[in-house]
Amino acid sequence: MSSFEKTLNNLYPGALPQERFVEASSRALKRLGFDADNTIACVGVCRDEICRPLVDAMYEAWGEAFNFSSLAGMLFLGRTGFSAAQHHAPVHRGRQRYLYLVAAHIALGERGEIGLCHRTGQSKPSNACGALCAFLGELKRGSVHADLRADDIEQSLLKARLLEKIRWGQVPSLPELTLLAGKVIQEDLENMIALTVDASRADYAVLCGIQIHGPEGAELFWPTASYAVVSGKKRALKIGKGNRRKK
Ligand SMILES: [Zn+2]
Repeated sequence: MSSFEKTLNNLYPGALPQERFVEASSRALKRLGFDADNTIACVGVCRDEICRPLVDAMYEAWGEAFNFSSLAGMLFLGRTGFSAAQHHAPVHRGRQRYLYLVAAHIALGERGEIGLCHRTGQSKPSNACGALCAFLGELKRGSVHADLRADDIEQSLLKARLLEKIRWGQVPSLPELTLLAGKVIQEDLENMIALTVDASRADYAVLCGIQIHGPEGAELFWPTASYAVVSGKKRALKIGKGNRRKK
């Protein structure tokens, strides 16, 4: 087992190759009546271009998606953004279907280096998620600029939202901070669903997790929550735990 695989299995046991995650979740959702013709997909990942393959895979499976993305995958589109996506959804027999996929992300290097990735055209490795790493840098220095800056709106909001969840003086590791971001993203998604979705006339599905960028273009997804609410009833989605490499 390579160092990358060891770190992956240690931090994200059961992470799936991204394509398999999209295929398995799409299959599970089709069994519950969601398909590309009757569903609008809403995808929120980090703005980082290395997150794009997941958006493309969702596009292949579900058609053009409403863009929920902000730095680190945080959800800052608010009621107006959520309502806009719902207004664009197809209506089939008086019912709408929304599919929400949201994720934080992290890179793992070939030696298991946490947060490091090699970007095309660059000789030195860089960080992912860069927004979380920048925030972590401030935490390590003990000086976080938590005010709302007009010239850095998303990063300001990210720091304010995550600081609510970090104990005073605590400095998480990057995987801990990534996990925390993922939890906050799920919490914010579910809060916005409660505020904007009318379950009497819409079914919806929630896919949350961590997007993992490995060496040599390996793209993985670690699901943390997968469920659908159909006719007001919550149903768990079975999307498998594959990819546990045994050597
Ligand atoms: Zn990022």
